[in-house]
Amino acid sequence: LNGYVGFANLPNQVHRKSVRKGFQFTAMVVGESGLGKSTLINTLFNTRLYPPKEPLPPSAERPQTVAIESISADIEENGVRLRLTVVDTPGFGDFVNNEDSWKPIVDNIESRFDLYLEQENRVNRQKIVDNRVHACLYFIQPTGHSLKPIDVEFMRQLHTKVNLIPIIAKADTLTDDEVADFKARILADIAHHNIHIFQAPTYENEDEEALAEAEEIAGKIPFAVVGSDRLVKTPDGREVRGRAYPWGVVEVDNEDHCDFVKLRQMLVRTYMEELREYTNDVLYENWRTEKLLSMGV
Ligand code: GDP
Ligand code: MG
Repeated sequence: LNGYVGFANLPNQVHRKSVRKGFQFTAMVVGESGLGKSTLINTLFNTRLYPPKEPLPPSAERPQTVAIESISADIEENGVRLRLTVVDTPGFGDFVNNEDSWKPIVDNIESRFDLYLEQENRVNRQKIVDNRVHACLYFIQPTGHSLKPIDVEFMRQLHTKVNLIPIIAKADTLTDDEVADFKARILADIAHHNIHIFQAPTYENEDEEALAEAEEIAGKIPFAVVGSDRLVKTPDGREVRGRAYPWGVVEVDNEDHCDFVKLRQMLVRTYMEELREYTNDVLYENWRTEKLLSMGV
């Protein structure tokens, strides 16, 4: 072992260091009210980040603008700390005139870029907090038709600023065939409008297993998901996260029932770091270049 230098241990060093520092991840959810955004976030991170909602009293005034609300939680799994922030956008698509619904959302994403740039420009750059949005889950209403103008407009405005992950909401309200047709039409629309959605990256010289996994995930986009933060009993007596119907139980974690598992794999288990990296290296970098050029720097 004379020639052994020891840098093969680098991955472990990197690993130890990042575990100590913890991770910051910010996800945004966008879509009309009632499409299951809060429920899905709870399901994804197995938390009650969003408490069960009290129904609005009938007299309550509906807000007239898109609000931006963010909630953070520190979660820990096997000694790894994750500071998770979810940015919710209640009001999107809920108005008579939704023409500019995307605007406050773009503004929010850009102001987070601004904050990051400010920190980078400080004399002391030791403690940079990364509040940039690393992924945007866009909830598509399960109409079974195709994208609506508001969907197309939102994605067109946002795709250069954030990693877009399109999702078919409440997929349990569609049959398998309807889901398959709907997915094909959504993808055709996305291609037609030259919208860039986040792709699971593949690398040359990657092993076959990793390639197969990337392909499997890519093949499910747009993810048809079912969310539920409660346990139900299946006819054969298992307790599962799911939704119970007179005709049976839809299981959140069953890949034959919906794409929840694949979505979680993309967002959390396999590509969280890729989402962060793409946000930093491409989306933020492009925004920063444009910003500095426009300022004449
Ligand atoms: P949000 O307004 O988009 O945050 O939607 P919520 O998460 O508050 O959910 C709205 C309603 O839809 C609640 O009654 C949920 O129980 C229900 N819901 C959430 N996810 C699903 C789903 O995947 N399928 C069905 N059928 N209902 C869902
Ligand atoms: Mg909600």
